[in-house]
Amino acid sequence: MAVYPATPTGACSKRTGSKLAKRSARSRSKTKEGYPSLRSWTMAQVRSKNTKPEIAVRKAAHALGLRFRLHRKSLPGTPDLTFASKRIALFVHGCFWHRHDCDKATSPASNVEYWTAKFDRNVRRDARNATDLRKAGWRCVRIWECETKDAKKLAGILRRKIASKPKAL
Ligand SMILES: [Zn+2]
Repeated sequence: MAVYPATPTGACSKRTGSKLAKRSARSRSKTKEGYPSLRSWTMAQVRSKNTKPEIAVRKAAHALGLRFRLHRKSLPGTPDLTFASKRIALFVHGCFWHRHDCDKATSPASNVEYWTAKFDRNVRRDARNATDLRKAGWRCVRIWECETKDAKKLAGILRRKIASKPKAL
């Protein structure tokens, strides 16, 4: 399976917005010839696994001696990491795709309607998954891509949000 970056390279700049749009237009025009559709391309971006931020979180969790499982498909939203003994489901979210309130969540300058709808769907899906997990007795933890850059800070977040939590009954 192809591994895509969690965020398109250089998603912070305006230029990337148009680069993305260009790529979108290209993908769309090739759909008839059997190339992946724009939808499947963007879905691949959103659903991508084993991203750099995700690997950073795994490393940090491992260093704290936490035991976890990856991508449990039986749980809503297929959480990136699950800590079964604590009943904690953790998602590592790309700031761009999941609309973090930080400077990485830029908005592409073209195809505004398309992107707005796309982002809305992502955010709604995240909220629905979190609700479903809570209903099933799981605590939901979200780590943002921008929180994974600094290993020390990341370890602090994991310690606070996971390691310090008591085991589930
Ligand atoms: Zn962020």
